Amino acid sequence: MYNPNLPLVYHPNYSFSFDPKHRFVVSKFARLKQYLEQQGVIQSNLQQGPVGNYSDLELVHCEQYVRDLYHNQLCPKAMRRIGIPWSKELMARTFTAPLGTYLTATLALKNGIACHLAGGTHHAHYDFGSGYCMVNDLAYTAQRLIDEQQVHNVLIFDCDVHQGDGTAAMLAHNPYVFTCSIHCDKNFPFRKQQSDLDIGLNPNVSDREYLSIVEATITDLIEQLNPDLVLYDAGVDVWQEDTLGKLDISWQGLEQRDYIVLTTCQRKGVPVATVIGGGYDKDHERLAMRHAIVIEQAAKI
Ligand SMILES: [Zn+2]
Repeated sequence: MYNPNLPLVYHPNYSFSFDPKHRFVVSKFARLKQYLEQQGVIQSNLQQGPVGNYSDLELVHCEQYVRDLYHNQLCPKAMRRIGIPWSKELMARTFTAPLGTYLTATLALKNGIACHLAGGTHHAHYDFGSGYCMVNDLAYTAQRLIDEQQVHNVLIFDCDVHQGDGTAAMLAHNPYVFTCSIHCDKNFPFRKQQSDLDIGLNPNVSDREYLSIVEATITDLIEQLNPDLVLYDAGVDVWQEDTLGKLDISWQGLEQRDYIVLTTCQRKGVPVATVIGGGYDKDHERLAMRHAIVIEQAAKI
């Protein structure tokens, strides 16, 4: 039932021992991996990316910022804006995950589709972090692929419930990356940045309206831009019971959304790399199952 050759990317340092009551569920990456193993989605198709360092992220971030972050020298206010307490383990995962997204993208370019069991830290800006995001894996991956001339242009298609403000701001002047964010208008971040295309949804949008917007948008953008790669942020915080969501999308609606995005890319012959994006739930197993949706959909194609 599942494609045993779907390239998947993971690193053991994504999850570490951390306050289980914190809103940001650090265990979700390891739980996601375990769930996908149980479902038979992970067989011998899982790759481990390299460990990253702050110097890797200087490609797209302020050098002083990433150094201060890594060495725990940011001021308390800057750390509060990030929302997760500093630790060595947190730094290991923070600077490794963008290299995982990059590896996933290169695998998508070779195979047509690939999935990262992490990624989507879209609230990270050039010289500050916010909303549990410290460095921006989407901006890093797009910029590195372009610099290396692996691609000419990239579409970042962000369906997390929160606007991809950091990505939008960091790539605002890059003509080779198109940023699109479909999010809940009445949700964090309350001061929005300008993506190349922003679609701010009302909290009461129905599954049907939502899915038709997603389908029309991804179809039109691929036709207009003819991108060499789509980076798809499949944030699952649009789900109706997400604790930070504010939208009313059903579980089945999530499955359909990911199916639509992935099959549209495939039909148009555009490689697509997925990242998991945001998801918040007191039930950590259910959260892992929710993040698995995009990977299961990819494995069914
Ligand atoms: Zn989010």
